[in-house]
Amino acid sequence: MAAVGTAQLADWITRYRDAVTAQRDWLTELDSAIGDADHGANMARGFAAVGDKLAAGTPATVDELLKTVGMTLVSSVGGASGPLYGTFFLRMGMSAGAVSELDGPALAAALRAGLEGIVARGKPEAGDKTMYDAMAPAVDAFDAALADGSSVGDAARAAADAAAAGRDATLDLVARKGRASYLGERSAGHLDPGAASTAILFDTLAAAIAD
Ligand code: ADP
Ligand code: MG
Ligand code: MG
Repeated sequence: MAAVGTAQLADWITRYRDAVTAQRDWLTELDSAIGDADHGANMARGFAAVGDKLAAGTPATVDELLKTVGMTLVSSVGGASGPLYGTFFLRMGMSAGAVSELDGPALAAALRAGLEGIVARGKPEAGDKTMYDAMAPAVDAFDAALADGSSVGDAARAAADAAAAGRDATLDLVARKGRASYLGERSAGHLDPGAASTAILFDTLAAAIAD
């Protein structure tokens, strides 16, 4: 497939809502080990609100869709993850612009802009044990796959695989950002909840593009 349209991106968001709802308890369990046991609830609540917002109909343009997602997350999730994921989608939308579909390079640029939004907001660095540790390798893998001549769908699958590996690599890290950092060395031995939800984000993107 050469380009990803607004309907497919809306399908991504719907799949992600369903996935974080199905995995709410697991995400909360991860957060109960090194945080305050609300990550699953935060994500499920935020994306339920997004689903309600989009129920009226899918916006015609990619920027409208992604900005609606971002603004809804910022306003409906109190935890750190709301503004972080909210900024990700807002920046993705700004990068995409008022278009009805994104080709591979445009989607790559939008994902990169979203990642940079998270960096601007939370100042995470590689190895801090945050969602960044799943997202940065995913965005890099997407770029690398496109550069190798992969289709958008194959690039999204490569990104999802890289996000999952990044999530798994947070297990042994000591947290340096967010609530988990309060635990110091005791944060090691647990997966980061935000890295786990980010791996799901890229898995659902790959699934929405593949179908
Ligand atoms: P809260 O910590 O406010 O309860 P959540 O539990 O919903 O919010 O989200 C926690 C996740 O947010 C962490 O697992 C981590 O991935 C991410 N996070 C926290 N602080 C930062 C930060 N400064 N930069 C990037 N990600 C962060
Ligand atoms: Mg929490
Ligand atoms: Mg909280």
